[in-house]
Amino acid sequence: MSLHIPTRPSWVCAGCSYPWPCHTRRQELLAEYAGARVSLSVYMATCLLDAMIDLAHDRSGYLYWRFMGWWRDQPVREDPPPRKRWPRRSI
Ligand SMILES: [Zn+2]
Repeated sequence: MSLHIPTRPSWVCAGCSYPWPCHTRRQELLAEYAGARVSLSVYMATCLLDAMIDLAHDRSGYLYWRFMGWWRDQPVREDPPPRKRWPRRSI
């Protein structure tokens, strides 16, 4: 369980007081969602929608980048495709 959770309605990190998701939480999220980029996008989109309600005075472009933009260019480790197994041939 991370200590770097958002406090609402300010969306400031409870662990380090930086805007959430802070650098630490971003690294944790990349590790937690390794190989699950779609799940990370759904989670972050849900957070973005909640933040847009709480932070209605903030610019939507900034909020979008804050919640969705930071991880889109990050390498999220995808699980490698399963190896093909060829049947053994008897010699
Ligand atoms: Zn933090």
